[in-house]
Amino acid sequence: MSKLSNDLDLLGDAARARLGQTFGLQIGGKTVETPESYALTDPSTGLEFARAAEARPEDLDAAVAAARKAMDGEWKRLRPHERELRLLRLADLLEQNERELSEIETLCSGRLLSNTAGVDVRYSAHVLRYMAGWATKLEGQTMRLSVPYIPDGELRGFTFREPIGVVGAIVPWNVALGIAVWKIAPALAAGCAIVLKPAPQTPLSALRFAQLAAEAGIPAGVINIVTGSSPRLGEMLVSHPGISMVTFTGSTEIGRRIAVSAAGNFKKCSLELGGKSPVILMEDAEVEVSAQAAAWAILANHGQNCCAGSRLYVHRAIHDQVLERVVDIVAGIELSAPLLPGAQMGPVVTQAQKQRILGFIQAGITEGAALLTGGTAPEHDGCYLRPTVLAGVTSDMTPAREEIFGPVVVVAAFDSEAEALHLANDSRFGLGASVFTQDLGRVHRMTQGLEAGSVWINIHNALDVAMPFGGWKESGMGNDLGESSVLAHTRLKASVHRYG
Ligand code: NAP
Repeated sequence: MSKLSNDLDLLGDAARARLGQTFGLQIGGKTVETPESYALTDPSTGLEFARAAEARPEDLDAAVAAARKAMDGEWKRLRPHERELRLLRLADLLEQNERELSEIETLCSGRLLSNTAGVDVRYSAHVLRYMAGWATKLEGQTMRLSVPYIPDGELRGFTFREPIGVVGAIVPWNVALGIAVWKIAPALAAGCAIVLKPAPQTPLSALRFAQLAAEAGIPAGVINIVTGSSPRLGEMLVSHPGISMVTFTGSTEIGRRIAVSAAGNFKKCSLELGGKSPVILMEDAEVEVSAQAAAWAILANHGQNCCAGSRLYVHRAIHDQVLERVVDIVAGIELSAPLLPGAQMGPVVTQAQKQRILGFIQAGITEGAALLTGGTAPEHDGCYLRPTVLAGVTSDMTPAREEIFGPVVVVAAFDSEAEALHLANDSRFGLGASVFTQDLGRVHRMTQGLEAGSVWINIHNALDVAMPFGGWKESGMGNDLGESSVLAHTRLKASVHRYG
């Protein structure tokens, strides 16, 4: 067994038992088989290990109908505290099933087991617990009114926050279960039901999650999962007349199409899209600490993070030192099978993604960037490529402008705070940005000046469930996480009462 190919004997019993199976849809609390299925392949070998159902239009209709029935039925009748308790139970079940969930996520995506266990399972349990608390805290307002054309009587106004309706969620493969829970948890806290479409590569964790939700006492039909390998399924979900709100995480290109389609029938839309997030090291940044942080800002999850630190800007006073250290760290990364304990970097998700990333690297070299490490792929059937540093990159070069979504960082030097801000903001994206400095005045100026939904100081990619996470510019609209993500799943009703 090559060190690059997953050894399936390492799997625990629960995940091993799923090898070779065909996974049905989860609709209305039942597993639904369909006539067609498609292959799920292990990115570390390119080999098929299971299959997933191809949902048909009638399956989608059934999922939306099941969600509507559940939302207007048992889910609606439950008191908010009971909704909270069931979400808390689901969080416990997630943790109890960590090994199986993280292993099936790793098999589908090629992401490290340490990452899928930490981010998709443990962090998701944390998200569920935070969101559970909101079920009992959705409040309206009360006011005394003075409608001018109703001169008599006493008028009182009340506002109510009601669930927005059946939510259609579409999620990517890069943190498949984690992002699915970012969508499901606030929707359920607000009293909605959901139909979720995972990315075709990574459907298994969401399917298992729906089964655990049933065990936690979440009524049948509140969570429905439809899988398929064609973009048609996502398009049908977005345009389905029974869906009231679309919540999407994925690329800017697909997000744009979804916004247009959802506008056609006035669906509310929340879009979490791509990024090209800058990491800025000022001249007073501590070299070793900030170089480590900058390297891991792009290496984490193989660079397949929406807010990966994919553009590194370093003050000229420390540029050469930092660059040497970052190259050292990146060049020292060993590629290995993601199921191996202690693995540092596994494959990217598909061969197509690997070729796309290599294409961006080549474009950068052709345009004049210096390849300092990486840029190649090992001879192996898995989707591996070596993490890469491109230096001397100017803002007009392709790898500085496009979201590569892989372990490739572009590096450039700057001479002043104003130049750093200009470089950082010279992008169509605006998801995250970080600054490493000890100067408090500069912290405030740069926090204000950076055009990004999240700004981190002396750290990169710190996402807390209590903080809204969303993009500016072409990185999206709306946000996941935080109170506002729950409120987004409600609609306001204003009611006027007359007395006497
Ligand atoms: P993607 O190609 O945009 O796909 C995302 C999801 O959309 C998949 O489930 C995909 O399914 C579906 N889809 C494709 N075409 C569709 C259409 N016309 N209508 C409706 N749904 C459609 O993105 P990806 O490659 O999976 O994920 C990587 C992207 O996600 C990156 O751009 C990354 O930055 C972004 N992301 C953003 C955040 C954030 O919070 N801002 C977080 C994580 C990832 P099919 O493949 O079957 O079409």
